[in-house]
Amino acid sequence: DRRSWLAGLIGQGVGPSLTPEMHEREAERQGLRYVYKVIEQAGGAVDAAHLEHLLGAAIELGYDGLNITHPVKQAMVPLVDETAPAVRAIGALNTIVIRDGRTTGHNTDVTGFKRSFTDGLPDVDRDRVVLLGAGGAGTAVAHALVDLGVRRLLVVDLDHERADQLAASLDDRSTDIEIVQPTAGWLRAAVGMATGLVNASPMGMAAHPGSPVPAEVLRPSLWVADIVYRPLHTTLLDAAAAAGCTVLTGAGMAVHQAADAFELITGRPADRAAMLRDFDEL
Ligand code: NAD
Repeated sequence: DRRSWLAGLIGQGVGPSLTPEMHEREAERQGLRYVYKVIEQAGGAVDAAHLEHLLGAAIELGYDGLNITHPVKQAMVPLVDETAPAVRAIGALNTIVIRDGRTTGHNTDVTGFKRSFTDGLPDVDRDRVVLLGAGGAGTAVAHALVDLGVRRLLVVDLDHERADQLAASLDDRSTDIEIVQPTAGWLRAAVGMATGLVNASPMGMAAHPGSPVPAEVLRPSLWVADIVYRPLHTTLLDAAAAAGCTVLTGAGMAVHQAADAFELITGRPADRAAMLRDFDEL
């Protein structure tokens, strides 16, 4: 098969992203002719007319697919012809597949987190889960957790409006969504009665050091997942492991969102184990 593939990543500040390298390495492993271009957007406000132009140009230039990242994940939703079910509810996409001039939006942050969870925490109690951070990633994770059968989701965000919006996006689902005040006392109470905790806030990154919850609330019966992956072993995960919790790092979500996008764009299965090994090297 001598066909070639053309893909790209559109967003602002995409230089440090590991996604291009993950796609390129997987394509090379499979012997595909796969070109992945980083399409950096100028900073500032998102210009919908410009994005529409860009998407039209990508179709005309023969792109097979695009990854879409901050801050254009939302603005792209009304511009695609079709969407996967989660995209409309969440109001954000991170992958666009282009076939015969038609575009379909997908959100592989949702499917990527789900895959990471079922692989890494297959047998944990999904009854009551605290989610920290209701931003773009937190919203994708919330939808994944609902799909995974979480019965009660307790959402914590310093910005109350974001927590409200996340809850509204899950209105039609049967999971109980509760918004928890982001104060030490409420957080302690919520984590105290939870079976699991997911950090989707930036706490733990180099620019936001520290743990979003006090170490005293961590106990062996609580599982803890972090989606921050720089560093992989965050202060929260180190404290959780020390307290005897079952833990999951952010590597799985980062790899599986890339693998899912690769599969959607090329229609070929990705070697996820090899992609996880690549990620460890990057
Ligand atoms: P965002 O800025 O859209 O949202 C972050 C949210 O967290 C904001 O609403 C903010 O108010 C809230 N927040 C900040 N500190 C908090 C705290 N202490 N407690 C509760 N809420 C708090 O960012 P995002 O795009 O949602 O990404 C969040 C983080 O997720 C990133 O920093 C990144 O490290 C990680 N991420 C990982 C993956 C992956 O594939 N593993 C993918 C995307 C993002």
